Amino acid sequence: MSFHKKIVPVQKIEVNVLKNAKIDLWMVREDMLHPKVSGNKFRKLKYNILEAKKQNATTLLSFGGAFSNHIAALAAAGKELGLKTIGVIRGEELAHSWQGNPTLAFADSCGMQLYFVSRANYRKKEEKAFLQQLQQQFGEFYLLPEGGTNQLAIKGCAEILQNVTMDFDYCCVPVGTGGTMAGLVQSVKSHQKVLGFSVLKGTFQHKLVEKNALYDNFVITDKYAFEGYGKIDGTLVRFINNFKKETGIPLDPIYTGKMMYGIFEMVRHGEIKENSRILAIHTGGLQGIEGMNQRLMKKNLPQIEL
Ligand SMILES: *Cc1c(COP(=O)(O)O)cnc(C)c1O
Repeated sequence: MSFHKKIVPVQKIEVNVLKNAKIDLWMVREDMLHPKVSGNKFRKLKYNILEAKKQNATTLLSFGGAFSNHIAALAAAGKELGLKTIGVIRGEELAHSWQGNPTLAFADSCGMQLYFVSRANYRKKEEKAFLQQLQQQFGEFYLLPEGGTNQLAIKGCAEILQNVTMDFDYCCVPVGTGGTMAGLVQSVKSHQKVLGFSVLKGTFQHKLVEKNALYDNFVITDKYAFEGYGKIDGTLVRFINNFKKETGIPLDPIYTGKMMYGIFEMVRHGEIKENSRILAIHTGGLQGIEGMNQRLMKKNLPQIEL
């Protein structure tokens, strides 16, 4: 895995909704950065892994839920770079059933050691005593926070726009912890606005983004969060399938699907004015489709087409 300058395609999206509204939209295909360490998780790992190597760390430890893109990316990066990885996973009940979970089975196949903890213990992931206990158990490690967000991760995400040469009015990005958006607000110009689509209820990420912003040119909305993190319905599934049919571009259900749904809703409702140029960041996350389809099947909802 090399961290040299990566060039990904910036793809024009040609669909009627945009044409009718006279709006241009391009997608930065960060999902194509690396086959297994996708999108923003690659960006977030870059400077952290360089730092871990500088510290001569041989083990990376981090936290995540059962479908975490960050856990999958960390496991794949560790395998490729010959670093040991440990994933502290939320939910002790998974200790008996993780083999059926595509994300965790993938992480295991990369050699990641999975350690399942109760939700109560998981909440202690930033407490010193809990981290010390993990250190006693696993030995020294380089710690990556949940979702991979720290200042080095933000530095990596500021490089997303490095190879984008065109001008634009809006930069759109899905928002979880806000780390990716915090990088983007460092690299846009004052006339460009960053629109963040929170994938969970609330816009608590505002603080982190504001701390990193050069200008007052960003906004976060949770209007398209679909009831919360990881929650989706038939409408979103149909949107994702339709988008793929019309553009050939796959979207993930947790992040990029909600962002694109939000952008199209805003365009439809005239919330983005004519002749605007939008740049949407495809942050990756496609590994999550398989796990989501398992859950959709149980609920008798339509599947996301691969
Ligand atoms: C993790 C993730 C995000 C959220 O990034 P944050 O920096 O936590 O806001 C967005 N998109 C995808 C595909 C992700 O995996």
